[in-house]
Amino acid sequence: MAAISAPRGTRDILPAESWKWSYIINTASQTMRDFGFSEIHLPIFEHTELFSRGVGETTDIVEKEMYTFEDRGGRSITLRPEATAGVMRAAIENNLCVQGASAKLWNWGPMFRHERPQKGRYRQFYQIDAECLGIAGAMADVEVIALSIEIFRRLGLKNLEVVINSVGCEKCRPVYRQKLIEYFDSHKDELCETCLTRLERNPLRILDCKNPSCGHVADGAPDIYDSLCDECKEHFAEVRAGLERLGFTYTLNKRLVRGLDYYTKTAYEILSGALGAQNAVAGGGRYDNLSSAVGGAKIPGVGFACGLDRVMLVMEEQGCDFGEMPKTEVYVAALDDDARGAAQILTYELRKNKIASACDTAGKSFKAQMKIAGACKFACIIGADEIANNAVSIKDMRSGSQVNISMSDAVKYILGRD
Ligand code: ATP
Ligand code: MG
Repeated sequence: MAAISAPRGTRDILPAESWKWSYIINTASQTMRDFGFSEIHLPIFEHTELFSRGVGETTDIVEKEMYTFEDRGGRSITLRPEATAGVMRAAIENNLCVQGASAKLWNWGPMFRHERPQKGRYRQFYQIDAECLGIAGAMADVEVIALSIEIFRRLGLKNLEVVINSVGCEKCRPVYRQKLIEYFDSHKDELCETCLTRLERNPLRILDCKNPSCGHVADGAPDIYDSLCDECKEHFAEVRAGLERLGFTYTLNKRLVRGLDYYTKTAYEILSGALGAQNAVAGGGRYDNLSSAVGGAKIPGVGFACGLDRVMLVMEEQGCDFGEMPKTEVYVAALDDDARGAAQILTYELRKNKIASACDTAGKSFKAQMKIAGACKFACIIGADEIANNAVSIKDMRSGSQVNISMSDAVKYILGRD
């Protein structure tokens, strides 16, 4: 029988790499805490409707990327393609934002999209996600953008570009939408097939098209800033002033959209030159109408999602520091078979004292055990003499010096020597 492989677009994160992932998540987790965000754990599958309504029928995600199936009870279930809709559902369902309360929530985990796998694009990928719910003002947008920048600063990513835009609101966007339809309609012959279908359904998405010809047309499209209502204009100015106050540089891109009705005002992305085509390491924005789209009372929100797989790629490429790879500090070697039991007892004693330790459990020779011990700080050696005297020989593997001490002092000795 042929061996079974992992499905296309998924991959195993093996021990040689997984400790680096832990480093990134721990760094993000600490930053979230410093910004007052609490962790929330969410289901990985939800009712399909949450995403069709919460992400939007006309998005690539809902149109062609979701892993949707019927469960054994005949319900339509979808593996989450993103986290924002789930966070909003949880906030509504658990009354986290009633009577003017706000909630700052973060989570991380796998997301699923049926896309063409390539560098920085997988079918199961990982996001760190932060959402600030219940606050309509621009300071919340600034806080969220600052949070994402701070995570990358702590991780040591270099040459990032923060790109922002405003996509207006339900009051001013219809006017802009109409202007876009008229403009793109007069350039129909230069648009790709997909954009032709977007023309009536979601013309804002044409602005986002990666096709060079569409991009060229989009560059000449009417400027959204001319269509923004006073409220959106003011909000955008406040976001920009807030970012400048904190000393951030950013660029404006009128073609950056979250092409959906629930997204309002701020849209932003953080790009890395190290990535090539898949260059966004994080994306986010404001979504004041999402809660009503998924059937709740009005809860304004702003957040971002950061693509962990891509952050990892950039960090590797830029030689960023991941801290120290965790390793075994003490190896307890048994000189002969009779000492194996005592070796395991001492190892467990060390572990209870939070000293990363190991002993052989596979029947290796003493020589083979000492070879492994060579990579540790200390080797504890137990043979017949040591057992007879209830003692242990401890060799400092860096200096080569060796002491023989009472077994009951072993933990204290190692803790004291570090
Ligand atoms: P892209 O334009 O690259 O498809 P997107 O707009 O679909 O990105 P978002 O939905 O905003 O992405 O998700 C936020 C982040 O998640 C992205 O900036 C990216 O870093 C990451 N991401 C999205 N899709 C994938 C994927 N298939 N594989 C790996 N990372 C992804
Ligand atoms: Mg995408």
